[in-house]
Amino acid sequence: MDIQQIVLRSRPQGEPTAGTFAFEKSVLPPLQPGELHLKGQYYSVDPYMRGRMNDVKSYAPPFQIGQPIVGGVVAEVVESAATGFQKGDLVTGRMPWATEMIVTAKTVKKIDAALAPASYYLGLLGMPGLTAYFGLMAIGRPKPGETVVISGAAGAVGLVVGQIAKIQGCRAVGIAGSDEKTAMLTDRFGFDAAINYKTEKNLSQAVGAACPLGVDIYFDNVGGEISDAVIAHLNFHARIPLCGQISLYNSKEIPTGPRIQTMLLTRSVLMQGFIVGDFQDRFPEAFAQLGTWLREGKLTYEQTIIDGFENLPRALMGLFSGQNKGKMVVRA
Ligand code: NAP
Repeated sequence: MDIQQIVLRSRPQGEPTAGTFAFEKSVLPPLQPGELHLKGQYYSVDPYMRGRMNDVKSYAPPFQIGQPIVGGVVAEVVESAATGFQKGDLVTGRMPWATEMIVTAKTVKKIDAALAPASYYLGLLGMPGLTAYFGLMAIGRPKPGETVVISGAAGAVGLVVGQIAKIQGCRAVGIAGSDEKTAMLTDRFGFDAAINYKTEKNLSQAVGAACPLGVDIYFDNVGGEISDAVIAHLNFHARIPLCGQISLYNSKEIPTGPRIQTMLLTRSVLMQGFIVGDFQDRFPEAFAQLGTWLREGKLTYEQTIIDGFENLPRALMGLFSGQNKGKMVVRA
């Protein structure tokens, strides 16, 4: 039976476009022992995928031209040739952008759809949730009463960071790109204040007003001028978990900003880049904690679900213009 897959057609210069991707028909190979035949249900689109489209050395190898894009997927078992899995099970793992696929059972894990909607395993209970947990808890090390500022606050990672900051007794201040998003942060997710960076005329002043005691932790998802505005307000011994720089992912040149090293030095600030995989050994601990907070009603979540496998490229491109609230996923 024919399946459909989406491959990288060309490496984008700047923003990805429809021409970056190509749709192809393919045929699945016969199922071998130890393998699963899966049908995709939910597909994750994530900002890091843009980096994998460049032919550069990074923490993950580049996507290859003519090969399927690979990302987080929740899929249903159609047929199992592996012990411990049966037809109808839901699994998650890194898989090709294909309507159906054959995978080695060892590369996926079963999900508990009774705990949360299946798509949450790509967001709150998946890679973005783990990223929020370790970035804040292991690098940010929040203490009650501290002020945590989060850029990209209304997205997949940011929403979780803000809520964990509140659980830890901190003041949470979010920065996001629309009034609808800032209202969501304060009204539904318990942020103490939120700033719309697109309409605020003086962002640094707005950060100062929202953080009367200064900034103890800056969870940086976006970089660029937003980060420049926050970094000016750092307190002595502040921490910066450097999670993402989405404002720069489509840049053709490396922009130069303020030289911040003197500020970091004189205020004894820790700024640490991290990749969630750095914490792989501790994933079970974080997963259990996120699940507990979810069950206790201390964590909640928001998703933007786009219907149709064929809309995967559009959904991915939409991340760079803020078309998502919370986690962006595509439902097959
Ligand atoms: P997301 O926030 O759900 O989606 C991206 C958001 O970024 C958009 O909704 C948009 O929101 C904002 N954005 C896009 N272009 C922007 C720009 N030029 N300036 C400011 N904001 C912009 O994505 P996510 O999955 O939670 O990821 C957030 C960041 O964390 C990304 O940088 C990602 O690469 C990083 N990340 C890192 C790790 C790691 O292991 N270190 C893991 C996961 C994610 P607005 O409407 O607010 O602009």
